[in-house]
Amino acid sequence: MDGGWRDGAGGRRTALVNPATEEAFVEVAAAEVSDVDAAVESAHRAWEGGWRDMAPGKREALLHAVARKLREHQEEIAQLERLHIGKPIADARDEAGLGARVFEYYAGAVTKFGGQTLPVARGGLDFTLRQSMGVVAGIVPWNFPFPIACWKVAPALAAGNCVVLKPASLSPLTALKLGQLAHEAGLPPGVLQVLPGGGSTIGDALVTHPRVRKVSFTGSTEVGKRIMELASRDLKRVSLELGGKSPNIVFADADWGKAADSSPMSVFANTGQDCCARSRVFVERGVFEGFVERFVAATGKLVVGDPADEGTQLGPLVSAGQRASVEGYLEDARRTGARFAVGGGRRAGRGYYLEPAVLLNVGPGDRCWREEIFGPVVAIVPFDDEAAMLREVNDTPYGLSGSVWTSNLSRALRVSRAVQSGVLSVNSHSSVHVEAPFGGFKQSGLGRDLGMAAMEGYTELKNIYVGE
Ligand code: NAD
Repeated sequence: MDGGWRDGAGGRRTALVNPATEEAFVEVAAAEVSDVDAAVESAHRAWEGGWRDMAPGKREALLHAVARKLREHQEEIAQLERLHIGKPIADARDEAGLGARVFEYYAGAVTKFGGQTLPVARGGLDFTLRQSMGVVAGIVPWNFPFPIACWKVAPALAAGNCVVLKPASLSPLTALKLGQLAHEAGLPPGVLQVLPGGGSTIGDALVTHPRVRKVSFTGSTEVGKRIMELASRDLKRVSLELGGKSPNIVFADADWGKAADSSPMSVFANTGQDCCARSRVFVERGVFEGFVERFVAATGKLVVGDPADEGTQLGPLVSAGQRASVEGYLEDARRTGARFAVGGGRRAGRGYYLEPAVLLNVGPGDRCWREEIFGPVVAIVPFDDEAAMLREVNDTPYGLSGSVWTSNLSRALRVSRAVQSGVLSVNSHSSVHVEAPFGGFKQSGLGRDLGMAAMEGYTELKNIYVGE
């Protein structure tokens, strides 16, 4: 806090458990409600005291300096991410690099971002300004702790706000490292505060603090609804990146072999703890059997193991509770008659591991088909008719991501328009691009991360008219 380290007011500490070994390895200070007030007030002082009015070129240079620091410490960030959530080290390195790239992108944006001049009917000069808001609360989940923290912090700072960042209780280490490195890079004290602590302890105080002008949240739909409700009391701005149950649609005219080989990682990456996981696969009947065979074979080749090993593709689930929750879905699926083509069991030894499961014979009312499981479980169903399939695809409260595989351009465009989701990939599973907006339709969210859309979301739009 204020550019330095401080214990929580109550002196409480939380032990973090390495999910690959089930052993506690470090204790982290936990913030209390009074710490929230101190952090927000300090951020507000930093905003009024200089950050808001800093010359854009200087702010640009500072954000570039943060990006350089993150690149210098990429390995350290990756190892911390591996330790607290069991992220495979190769992925953790990529995500540490992504965080640095996000700072580079928004550093560049500072001096290219502005308003418009408008030809109003009565003459004079009319123009718009994009003004900073003040203090932004960034609340982030445990599945991509470092990159998502950067998605919130970099555009909010670039737009001239100060940020209080609250990581998830399971994954505070890389957020704290971000705060430390940002200040070492020269960020003025107070501009970025990091408050580790439980959502149930400090969440409400942060969301309802009168000086917080915007809450930028990524997490579950359930908590997102609570935040929107609390924020509505004084009409705080909110952006919400929430859950998903995304489709993966494969037509018979596609390079379906390529789709089958690449699709397991579109749902099992990060051990399925991914809001974009394509967990409902729709395959045109003519190629269904061949597709399933290849999908299952590709799943069997995935390397599940120690996150510290370079070749590991799937690590453990984040916690014993998360594994138990996924196993609850698997039990339900067994009870309702799903066929397990592969996987679903625990791996021998320590760590919260589960073998990735491919389910067939799943019905539209089954819990594993309708709900976000947030674990390594996929269901594959055949379809005959495009229109009926699309009705099923959209029959969900979610609308985050998805893929369509076809070699027919008209069909690709028609289906892309019809799927109700904020992000869609054609003949690809790539959902996240720093330069492009990311977010959901329906109960998958509100507002956008990344791209210039995110930066706009951290500003108020003002119109000024100057008479002749
Ligand atoms: P979560 O909703 O339990 O927690 C997210 C964050 O909110 C944590 O920091 C938590 O401490 C905090 N929180 C909890 N209760 C709060 C309260 N009352 N007030 C304020 N903050 C509170 O989510 P999680 O389990 O950490 O993450 C998994 C969920 O996140 C999944 O549903 C997943 O789909 C979603 N997610 C969405 C995206 C996206 O971009 N759409 C990305 C990653 C994860």
